[in-house]
Amino acid sequence: MTRTTLSWSERFGQHDMGDWAIYVPPTGLVEPDLHIDNPKRTARLRRLIARTGLEDHLDVVAPRAATVGELEAVHSAEHVERMAAVSEAGWGDAGGGFTPMNGDSYELALLSAGSVLTCVERVLSGEADRAYAIGRRSGHHASRETGYGFCIFNNVAAAAAAARAAGVERIAIVDVDAHHGNGTEAIFYEDPAVLTISLHEDRMFPLETGGAEARGGAGAEGANLNVPLAPGTGDAGYLYAFDRLVVPALDEFEPELLLVVAGVDASMYDPLSTLALTAGGFAEVAERLVAAAQRHCDGRVVFEQEGGYSHVYAPFCWLKLIEVLAAAPRSEDPFAPFLAGAGFTFLAPHQQELVDDLVVRAGLGAGVSS
Ligand SMILES: [Zn+2]
Repeated sequence: MTRTTLSWSERFGQHDMGDWAIYVPPTGLVEPDLHIDNPKRTARLRRLIARTGLEDHLDVVAPRAATVGELEAVHSAEHVERMAAVSEAGWGDAGGGFTPMNGDSYELALLSAGSVLTCVERVLSGEADRAYAIGRRSGHHASRETGYGFCIFNNVAAAAAAARAAGVERIAIVDVDAHHGNGTEAIFYEDPAVLTISLHEDRMFPLETGGAEARGGAGAEGANLNVPLAPGTGDAGYLYAFDRLVVPALDEFEPELLLVVAGVDASMYDPLSTLALTAGGFAEVAERLVAAAQRHCDGRVVFEQEGGYSHVYAPFCWLKLIEVLAAAPRSEDPFAPFLAGAGFTFLAPHQQELVDDLVVRAGLGAGVSS
């Protein structure tokens, strides 16, 4: 039986950024509404885990907080101090002007990074075969010097650094969030021991990063792989890219530990991307990741939760990822009958061409230096 850890704190389902309108502050003509990074989505996921019986297949543990030292492995001391000071002041921005923080945010950011660290520790110690870290705040846009895009600290990067310090020599980070994992890419760009892969909507967020030409810095050529996807890409297009690019890159790199940035904002109903995956598509993505971990990592894989902004659908997509990880019975996607057979579920010729071109440009098969 697979032993799967779920790291969860009630506080993740409570951290409330107040009334904005998506991410526009409550001023001017736009009527206030929930900030898009609101607690509803996470709280609903937790209730779904209980209601579907998935909880019976999980070891639910409370996360520890990350230490300042663990964060400083991937961030400057100045950034960590500034985040503490902004939170201490009761309100402010983590970076970029649309990443609000309140008095709880610093502590929640420590707990979110700690949630991934807790999961990595349990997998490395053998207490768990696989693990899933729920967290809020997200992390993959945070770079060494600043927060960005709702992210304060780079949770997955801190966990990768801790795993390296614990003796893991080769780590792969696969980022399936719809937005480019720019912070993670930047932190490890010149590190040949950490393969960073990001699948994301082409030129969406951040606008200026995520291109296929970014393959790693000096001494780490091939250790970064961007997969910019055409708007409108659904299950078939996504899985085509996954099989042509991500799986071969993982097989070539042969990581000892697999970390997955589990954003589900590439879903059909998400307001922050025009990708169009279904919950079933996310399950197939998770199956490929678990299989890669079985081939290369003795099964050791940790998913850490990031973006996903449809209050209604994101919880069902995250649920699928956890069901696959836990090798648990699959629940029904109540939206599946409305999505089955729709045009976006097929591989369009222009999507296929784009991926075929990326395969050539990535030079997969030429060897990843490490
Ligand atoms: Zn995202």
